[in-house]
Amino acid sequence: MYRTHTCGELRSEHINQTVTLSGWVQYNRDFGGMTFIDLRDRFGITQLVFGMDIDNNLCEKARTLGREFVVQVTGKVNERSNKNNNIPTGDIEIIVTELTLLNASKLPPFTIEDDTDGGEELRMKYRYLDLRRRPIRDNLILRHKLGQEVRKYLAGQGFLEIETPFLIKSTPEGARDFVVPSRVHESNFYALPQSPQTFKQILMMSGYDKYFQIVKCFRDEDFRADRQPEFTQVDCEMSFIHQQDIIDVFTGFVKHIFKEVREVELGEIPVLTYADAMNRFGSDKPDMRFGMEIKYLDSQLGDTDFAPFKDALDQKGSIAGICIENGAVFTRKQLDAYTEYVKEPNRGMKGLIYVKWNEDNTISSSVNKFFSEDQLKEWFKTFNGQQGDLLLISSGATRKVQKAIGDLRLEIGSQMGLRDKNKFAALWVVDFPMFAFDEESQTWTFEHHPFTSPKAEHLDKIFTHPGEVLANAYDFVINGWECCSGSIRIHDREIQSKIFKAIGLSEEEAQEKFGFLLGALEYGAPPHGGCAFGFDRLCAIMAGTESIRDVIAFPKNNSGRDIMLDAPGPISQEQWKYLHLKPGS
Ligand code: ASP
Repeated sequence: MYRTHTCGELRSEHINQTVTLSGWVQYNRDFGGMTFIDLRDRFGITQLVFGMDIDNNLCEKARTLGREFVVQVTGKVNERSNKNNNIPTGDIEIIVTELTLLNASKLPPFTIEDDTDGGEELRMKYRYLDLRRRPIRDNLILRHKLGQEVRKYLAGQGFLEIETPFLIKSTPEGARDFVVPSRVHESNFYALPQSPQTFKQILMMSGYDKYFQIVKCFRDEDFRADRQPEFTQVDCEMSFIHQQDIIDVFTGFVKHIFKEVREVELGEIPVLTYADAMNRFGSDKPDMRFGMEIKYLDSQLGDTDFAPFKDALDQKGSIAGICIENGAVFTRKQLDAYTEYVKEPNRGMKGLIYVKWNEDNTISSSVNKFFSEDQLKEWFKTFNGQQGDLLLISSGATRKVQKAIGDLRLEIGSQMGLRDKNKFAALWVVDFPMFAFDEESQTWTFEHHPFTSPKAEHLDKIFTHPGEVLANAYDFVINGWECCSGSIRIHDREIQSKIFKAIGLSEEEAQEKFGFLLGALEYGAPPHGGCAFGFDRLCAIMAGTESIRDVIAFPKNNSGRDIMLDAPGPISQEQWKYLHLKPGS
């Protein structure tokens, strides 16, 4: 028997028992006559004591044990004179009488401690060591727990867990497919699912009523921070429901998992339209942990001569800004940095105007040559601002200025510590646009995916005013992260054909790609809809970490590589041949 207990198990009630433990050497401290070792396993840490007075040889042997050596010890549980309140086993120690070295270890390239000295690349290369660290282990335990609660809640609501295949044909979610060449069928390829979207819809058409799956999805996207080419979703679908039913069931779902996994009560979860979210926060995934909402001076300054504002209004744009409480003390340097921030190419503002209502009741501003103090004080009213506050304002095309000011709001919110990772603010965003205009290809494309239903009252605008068509699509957002998206699907064959046509798919292309779905739509498809939660993201938010890599056992790095495996990598000549591929072809 390797052990009678784990390293996290012993308490004062075990004092005087003889026990056997196995684990890794975390620390070895030699005090001459005594050697102390912290022995670690998944469950915790237990202090071992080797005394010269007990067994000189054993003590000598213990001194030679390096970090990460694997050992088995037997000894007596003893009450510690110096109790350690920081660990659950801190009341006891083991006076060791037998020691077996199970395996030696090379010196690890970084310290296996909560705060390690290893950089990210090094830790990913030696992931098997990094996984021994407590913060990562805690995250994986949380992930396990979350998975259990997801299953518990959904099964309790009558959902069936059904697996769908990985070797399939393309499912469009707006990314490129990863493809797998077929050996048996020359020049043919499978695609890995970007999501199980079409399968779950087919399951509804087959009468399964409520489906879910904790499932891997694969998307070949250009690498952006915190994207993984393979990631996990909690994928769900329901029949005979309206949007409100989905919102109700999954509001219950998020409340359940936050309560069970984090002991957090989410409270009322507001529902905002996409248009409102953009207007108030400049984002379709607003961080609602703090206010600082965007306000507009458009109507107030309708007849302004100030060129940047006038130009924006002439072109049906907006003058928008935020008010920072007690921000009048911000320095010139900070204000300059914010100006540069909104001018960065992805925001593209021409400038940023500031107005400070100083504590001495004076106004200082970058536009005081153009507006009187009284006028500027009027602006504060629009922002519900007061003495001591700061306004930051920009102007331009409405969506662009909303995004720039929305980003600035987040930036300042972070700097002011308003985005506390232990606070959770959730909302549903509904009524998304159906189509988005792709500047590059100059065509309309779907915003969610092509199986999402348009609002019935907008059906007649699909070809004439695609930009005005709203979809029965919704997102669940928490702390500024989009955690779930979904929609009510099209269950009418004719409407599905129309949507394919609107995004530029000919009848033949639609048949070739989605003939099976169009076929199924002809055999009594029920009204249905669903959603998918990003499981990695949920874990990251609950674990209070910024990166989903911290909650995935074997993640890829930011450029999609698995550094431990060194993948992707070349294949052998033999494989090229039997897959009927030619290098460079
Ligand atoms: N398949 C969608 C996605 O992966 C989710 C859904 O519409 O249910 O985003």
